[in-house]
Amino acid sequence: MAPVSDERARPHRSEELFARASAVTPGGVNSPVRAFRAVGGTPRFMTQGDGSHITDADGNRYVDLVASWGPMLLGHAHPEVIAAVQAAVSRGTSYGTPTEPEVELAEEIVARTPVDKVRLVSSGTEATMSALRLARGVTGRAKIIKFAGCYHGHVDALLAQAGSGVVTLGLPGTPGVTAATTADTIVLPYNDPAAVTEAFATYGDQIAAVITEASPGNMGVVPPLDNFNGFLADTCRANGALFISDEVMTGFRITRSGYYGIDGVVPDLMTFGKVMGGGFPAAAFGGRADLMAHLAPEGSVYQAGTLSGNPVATTAGLTTLRLATDEVYAKLDETSLTLQRMVATALEKEGVPYLIQAAGNLFSVFFVDNTTNEATIRDFAGANAQVLPRFAAFFHAMLDAGVYLPPSAYEAWFVSAALDDDALAEIEAALPGAARAAAAVEN
Ligand SMILES: *Cc1c(COP(=O)(O)O)cnc(C)c1O
Repeated sequence: MAPVSDERARPHRSEELFARASAVTPGGVNSPVRAFRAVGGTPRFMTQGDGSHITDADGNRYVDLVASWGPMLLGHAHPEVIAAVQAAVSRGTSYGTPTEPEVELAEEIVARTPVDKVRLVSSGTEATMSALRLARGVTGRAKIIKFAGCYHGHVDALLAQAGSGVVTLGLPGTPGVTAATTADTIVLPYNDPAAVTEAFATYGDQIAAVITEASPGNMGVVPPLDNFNGFLADTCRANGALFISDEVMTGFRITRSGYYGIDGVVPDLMTFGKVMGGGFPAAAFGGRADLMAHLAPEGSVYQAGTLSGNPVATTAGLTTLRLATDEVYAKLDETSLTLQRMVATALEKEGVPYLIQAAGNLFSVFFVDNTTNEATIRDFAGANAQVLPRFAAFFHAMLDAGVYLPPSAYEAWFVSAALDDDALAEIEAALPGAARAAAAVEN
């Protein structure tokens, strides 16, 4: 059962480690969202994961609803994954030659998804960057369309924000990305077919590709409405552009394929990561055989990687995917629904306004303001209408009660197959206090 909060150790050791980290690493972290900037406080340094729980450097245990931002679909330290990885490591960790596990992982991905061929890479960022290069190489066109609030990794051309007006060329979203790099990026509001039609009317024969998250999860969960993916695929086809579906977050997580398993829209190119690496750096992009044939060494579009298809990473990914059966996905759906109901009950009891949105087992809780009447958040502007301090109060109350949520209001909550009835009971016990903490925050 959940340890009561006064049994929990103050995070002294995490504070110490964070001070040391901050002296040698910008912001003390190797990826910004880990720094707790959106919720305040000291990030917890974890020392161990087992099943549904993670343990911090001060010995506090947490039910984990981040799952390494998705990859740990089966929970932490799954015995079969660990055994396969240990066996792989004992044979050496990298040869820079082709190996059997990378063939098997590629075969598994091809069997689960509509892609004919895949190329393995080491991160989701690399996958989307390479897919864009391929799309531009194949079409001979420069412009790409992306949607505000969709995240595709830290690819320069995709770190763009929209200017004013609906159809505008992107402005660099961060110092260090040049205006020239984003000049060919068109940023549109999500779930807005008219904006897409207008962009193609203006720039049609210059657009190489439309890239979108298959179901966005990086502005909170904002699913496509009215077959938006189908509309994008048709519009691309009619205009000689390619449709790239980014399933780095959703792939192999919400069905055995990804969001594709829900809407069935076949993209020209797809990107994968997270779950397919089983907790190691492995990602992929893939698509139609005729498109993938343009990649070196078969074709002329260059792409490469020293550690691509690494035998330890591909073994972890392959073992994870083989264990991710239809029964596992059914259980994840059920666990997610149970959790959503628990959260809704706790927030309603305290009169906290909220919206819960889901795409398969992926869901997020929006702390909307008291005046919001919208039944659905459909784009980034909608996702921005949240009472962020309310999420921060909720987050910290959950943390103090032993539940580790994503430390930002703009993230999905990730369930794992290791969440059993005891873990769910711990979450249920933590929720009333967290709902009270959220209710105490002014609108
Ligand atoms: C996480 C993510 C990426 C980036 O993957 P990294 O491995 O962090 O580079 C790309 N696209 C989506 C949809 C993601 O969720």
